[in-house]
Amino acid sequence: MGHAETDGCAGAQVEFQAVLKSAGVRLTQQRKRFWEWAAGQKRGFTIPQALDAMRGYGIGQATVYRNTATLERLGLLRRIGNGNRSDRVYCCSKPGHHHSIVCDRCGLVREFDTCGWALLRELLSLQTGFEIQDHYMEVRGICPECQAAKR
Ligand SMILES: [Zn+2]
Ligand SMILES: [Zn+2]
Repeated sequence: MGHAETDGCAGAQVEFQAVLKSAGVRLTQQRKRFWEWAAGQKRGFTIPQALDAMRGYGIGQATVYRNTATLERLGLLRRIGNGNRSDRVYCCSKPGHHHSIVCDRCGLVREFDTCGWALLRELLSLQTGFEIQDHYMEVRGICPECQAAKR
């Protein structure tokens, strides 16, 4: 509780229910179970991993796919691509402007929103003449724990 590690996914329980409610999406027991599991995956997860985990709760493949799509649409799950981990999906803490920073060693994912977008947007618009719509960014690095383990 209130631990530094939990500010990615695990602390997002209240937000989860609020987002579902405002989107008119029903909070089913299966959806809640899936989210609780996903929120605990600090290193992201693949669909096969989710299928495996949910099978233990008697939740089938179609439900997992459907829930993944719904939560991604609501901005509660974010797809992360990172070299050989390109098939992972990451659950984010809240919808809206966020980017992922991913550890190259262990796959730990954190989120940030300080990307200087307002300035970059203006600059790019000037340079290219484009009417800028959106942007995607993912940062890779070595997390503090992996740095410590290396020493
Ligand atoms: Zn790491
Ligand atoms: Zn940004």
